[in-house]
Amino acid sequence: MTPLIPLPRRFERVLVIAAHPDDAEFAFGATIARLRDEGVRVSYLVVSDGAQGGEDPDEPAAELAATRAAEQRDAARVLGVTEVEFLGFPDGLLADNAELRLSLARVIRRHRPDLVLTHQPLRSLQFPIGASHPDHLAVGQAALNAVYPDARNPRAFPELLAEGLSPHRVAEVWVPGHEHTDLLIDVGNTAERKVAAILAHRSQFRTSTDPAADVRWVVDRMLGYGKLHSCEYAEAYKRIVTDAAAGPGPVLTVAS
Ligand SMILES: [Zn+2]
Repeated sequence: MTPLIPLPRRFERVLVIAAHPDDAEFAFGATIARLRDEGVRVSYLVVSDGAQGGEDPDEPAAELAATRAAEQRDAARVLGVTEVEFLGFPDGLLADNAELRLSLARVIRRHRPDLVLTHQPLRSLQFPIGASHPDHLAVGQAALNAVYPDARNPRAFPELLAEGLSPHRVAEVWVPGHEHTDLLIDVGNTAERKVAAILAHRSQFRTSTDPAADVRWVVDRMLGYGKLHSCEYAEAYKRIVTDAAAGPGPVLTVAS
């Protein structure tokens, strides 16, 4: 295995919060596999049931949801992840509301991650529109709200204390970089596993004659980010540091 550019810090537990089955693989798959290679515990939380992820209007929703849940477990296993949990919210209708924030804060307090990987909460006007699926925006926003303040504030959702879930401070959140990239992760040893994990979502390639060709853009994007990071393949993030120990964060400079 090629020596990799080190991660920005050592993590013990990572929680991936994704809107749909397959989002984790597309957005962070190679990073997840690298974290597992380095002995980090990684758990998935998939918020929706994925029942809008198909082209056949006559396929029963429960059937498609079950297929996609099984595929999600298979894909996670390719990356070395066996802890996969589903909230089962209806696909396509996710909202950053109190119900979702409570659900996410509960899982954060239970898993107590030091890093959360989730969606970007802002619509990207430069990237393909799929990156700004409304469920992605809702989960990105709700996950960040659950990290700060809900999971760490003992007065937020007091029923969680009654459930025995004490407050927890997540140290960092990484979201896909899009136009806000400030963190590149060297994934030279795991880029191929990412592609294999994406292809494990077989229902999403039912109409394809060449699934590998369909996801070539994923490889090209990792190659492009790799060039920026002086490595072969990279994944790109916006890094949101939420703990004081890491310093005050970047200082804004205004060009004159
Ligand atoms: Zn999605």
